[in-house]
Amino acid sequence: MSKAAILSRSIWVFHFASAACNNCDIELIDALTPRFDLERFGIKLVGSIRHADCLLVSGIMNEKGATRLKFLYDIAPKPLAVVTFGSCGASGGLFTNSYNFYGPPDKIIPVDAYIPGCPPRPEAIIDGIVKVVKKLRNV
Ligand code: SF4
Repeated sequence: MSKAAILSRSIWVFHFASAACNNCDIELIDALTPRFDLERFGIKLVGSIRHADCLLVSGIMNEKGATRLKFLYDIAPKPLAVVTFGSCGASGGLFTNSYNFYGPPDKIIPVDAYIPGCPPRPEAIIDGIVKVVKKLRNV
């Protein structure tokens, strides 16, 4: 089954937050509140990667985070859409020169889309996820 086919239905998202300031994670929680209501798009946060169609990654990867990210990707059902959000998730952001920065997520697993911002607003998170769903459906 292709990514396009799996994304033709509501997508379930697993959030992996690695090391950083965690403001991105607060914005994601905000996106789930009734004000922004992420679930109206059929996008639901789930507690297990084994139930997910999409892996949402925030924060920088240190060595421990990189190992966990690779493990999560390996055990996830495929196809799996991978989206990073925040500058940290895309490139390391403010922490690029940090002693424990391992590298961006796309050095560890394949990434389909990046949502920029530090932190991205809930509108940007919703926009980014909806865009990646549309993009993958057109593949
Ligand atoms: S991108 Fe900015 S807000 Fe998000 S975790 Fe990194 S430093 Fe914090």
